[in-house]
Amino acid sequence: MTPLMQQYYKIKDEHPNSVLFFRMGDFYELFGNDAVLSAGILGITLTKRNNGKAGEIPLCGFPYHAAERYVPKMVKAGHRVAICEQVEDPKTAKGLVKREVVEIITAGTSLSENVLDAKSSNFLVSVFGNATLDTFALASLEISTGDFSVCIGSAEEIECELYRIRPSEVLYESSQSIPFLDTFCLFEKTPATPLLVDFFEAEKSFETLCKQFKVDNLDSFGLNNLQGLIGAPGSVLLYALDQKKTSLDHLDRVRFKQLKNYMTLDPQTLRNLELLKPLNAEDDNSTLVHILDKTITAMGARKLKEWVAHPLLIKNEINERLDALDEILDNPILQADLKNELREIHDLERLMGRVGSGRANGRDLLALGKSLVKAAAVGELLADTKCPFLKQSGISGEDLLEKGHYILAYITDEPPLTLREGRIIRPGCSPKLDALNEGIREAREWLSGLEGRERKRTGISSLKIGFNKVFGYYLEVPSSHHDKVPEEYIRKQTLANAERFISPEMKEYETQILNAEGGINQLEYKIFCELRDHVNTWCPSLRDVAGKIAQIDCIYSLAKATIKYGFIRPELHEEKSLSIQDGFHPVIVSLNPQIEFIKNDTQIDWESLKIKLITGPNMAGKSTYLRQTGLIVLMAQMGCFVPAQKAKIGIVDRIFTRVGASDRLARGQSTFMVEMVETANILHNASDRSLILLDEIGRGTSTFDGLSLAWSIVEHIQKKIHAKTLFATHYHELTVLAEELNDVKNYHITVKEEHGSLLFLRKIISGACDSSYGIQVAEMAGLPKEVVVRAKGILKDLEGTPIHHSVSNTPTKIEKPQGDLFGGPSISTNEQLALEELQRADPNSLSPMDALQLLFDLKKHYLNK
Ligand code: ADP
Ligand code: MG
Repeated sequence: MTPLMQQYYKIKDEHPNSVLFFRMGDFYELFGNDAVLSAGILGITLTKRNNGKAGEIPLCGFPYHAAERYVPKMVKAGHRVAICEQVEDPKTAKGLVKREVVEIITAGTSLSENVLDAKSSNFLVSVFGNATLDTFALASLEISTGDFSVCIGSAEEIECELYRIRPSEVLYESSQSIPFLDTFCLFEKTPATPLLVDFFEAEKSFETLCKQFKVDNLDSFGLNNLQGLIGAPGSVLLYALDQKKTSLDHLDRVRFKQLKNYMTLDPQTLRNLELLKPLNAEDDNSTLVHILDKTITAMGARKLKEWVAHPLLIKNEINERLDALDEILDNPILQADLKNELREIHDLERLMGRVGSGRANGRDLLALGKSLVKAAAVGELLADTKCPFLKQSGISGEDLLEKGHYILAYITDEPPLTLREGRIIRPGCSPKLDALNEGIREAREWLSGLEGRERKRTGISSLKIGFNKVFGYYLEVPSSHHDKVPEEYIRKQTLANAERFISPEMKEYETQILNAEGGINQLEYKIFCELRDHVNTWCPSLRDVAGKIAQIDCIYSLAKATIKYGFIRPELHEEKSLSIQDGFHPVIVSLNPQIEFIKNDTQIDWESLKIKLITGPNMAGKSTYLRQTGLIVLMAQMGCFVPAQKAKIGIVDRIFTRVGASDRLARGQSTFMVEMVETANILHNASDRSLILLDEIGRGTSTFDGLSLAWSIVEHIQKKIHAKTLFATHYHELTVLAEELNDVKNYHITVKEEHGSLLFLRKIISGACDSSYGIQVAEMAGLPKEVVVRAKGILKDLEGTPIHHSVSNTPTKIEKPQGDLFGGPSISTNEQLALEELQRADPNSLSPMDALQLLFDLKKHYLNK
């Protein structure tokens, strides 16, 4: 094996889990499995080293500058990339050039703009805990911005937090098994990195954190709340330092995040209400955050996501945001001014991150300087506002202006990307630099005057001064004037009609220029690094400023959304009631401005009404109504105006949802199992301060099982939990519950039958619905005519029998189910299920396979007859 390959294997052995980009001259080469894997992902040609000879090995490679595109591709495909560079100059190296891995890039540690999305945070998370005590700590680190926080909670709480922050990479201790973490990584396709137990060791963690934050103890960060689980923040920091292999000075603090200060949102509620991610992957516009996001800065966009996923619980805190929103809404001039200033504020957080990790170049500092001046202008604009949230935004105009101008005084208007080629530092910053520049200027001036002077002196009117790379400045004399050439000229080159000369004096000036240029490049680099180091010391205060700009941008964004969609200010209180007048679904309305959306009220006084049972045929608008109520409450608690005419919101501790499980089917669990797991979660965790939205519970099992379950769930909520609940159901039998339980009431969404077809009126009114109109809905969905006709016939047949609970036009009351949950009479047949399915099927969501299955079941029914 050649020494080069020996070196390769040694380094590769140290990084078995990474794809090794091995620098050779102007190329990165990849060998063996790395080559095979990468050639596929990157779409580059796979060849062989030593083809057909001993030591044959797959090989691929590309020019070094392509790495900028290829690294992100590999990382996005879920791989880790180790960058191995030549760490000494090949020209001066004795023997084989030394090579070292200088950085490992993973999804959670990337700083490349090609991997990072400006409007999303890129969290690296570590989860560490004790399953027996049901206590886990979660530390999340955004390396590009320095946002570092840690929280503690039960498995359930930490799981919820995990889905809310949606990390890009998850770390865990390799011997620990954390089921909720496995599930998250599997379904959210997030890389999980096991680490040795050393990474989590308490003492080491403590030392690493103290050293990073330059403190003796961590009390001021609230880490004493961590119950010994300091390994969570410790491991995440150690890992980051280990991967980046440089200092990360901008990580200057960690924040203890008290989960109890925020409304808990579990994964299914995040999903069902489509807060951050659409239910349907292609439909990116259908999320709440999408319609609320009118932010101007990247920092604002990231903060808004945090706000949406972390609604507040404390009335005063919510009102602070609402007051700020009110004030901005009242002041169109302020809105316009804010927009103008915010537009020119770059990503302060990520710029400071680049400064702190030593990656900032001249353009970054220029952007930072300009942004600080604009941030100062924002501070100025807010100085005259009334409400504390805006006024005390703490953006001190003067200080920022000073800092901004400090940077701008150094950096030229168009600095290059590189740091060692000069043109970064302005004149007037350093006498030494100015002197060097002055020297160059003088020498150039001397040189440019030389032509004229020499013409005069020698009498050669066609004498010219020129420059080439081989011998620098020269004087060119046409051959015809050969005899007039002065003695001190030294001939360098003879052309066809001319000769080229240099003079010693001329060379002196030239050397002066060259030396000065080298000196300038070095000096500019030094001054730049000093400036960068100095700017780095502003990190803590600039991080505060960035956070405040982000918040102001959020308020601005909510104001714009409020104007656009006609939201109103909600009134928050600490009672348990809820009153929404003329509410509407913000996302449906914003996505379909052409439809006439029928507004609906949600009144739950809690004393006499806690549970609303909502019936109505498919497509009536039940699910929409449930979701819109959830969204309005959530928006109110994030401090946003809401889509309604009037809203009085009793603050809720959690919103629970059980809505349409179809998206989970792909995950291999049966609808019914999922439904029951999610329902169990609700029954275990809900309180009388919660809002529960249950949509079509019991749908995944046979009719009577489902009905019995739905029945007992409503009873349990009514008797034990006392939570505000909206319960949409196709089981008309459940409407009987309203007569038995005093704070349960029936509602239905109105439809009208006209000439055999259905008219959806979409208004919710009290009382139970009198028909499920399933077949009509199927007809409208375009089921073949003969099938519909046949179905109507079957329905007629069935109407005579006692099992047609949800099929009849006049619902038969049934007795409250007796016995245990699953013990109800079970007479369901395939045909019966097929019919029910047909009624319940949401024509919009009916997949071709489902439709086929329905038809198939109906056909079987024909054949049996
Ligand atoms: P259900 O859950 O009762 O089957 P959905 O809530 O899924 O009904 O609503 C069915 C369709 O009706 C959806 O396309 C929705 O956009 C529309 N819709 C629902 N509520 C309203 C409303 N209040 N005004 C106008 N359209 C509505
Ligand atoms: Mg529905």
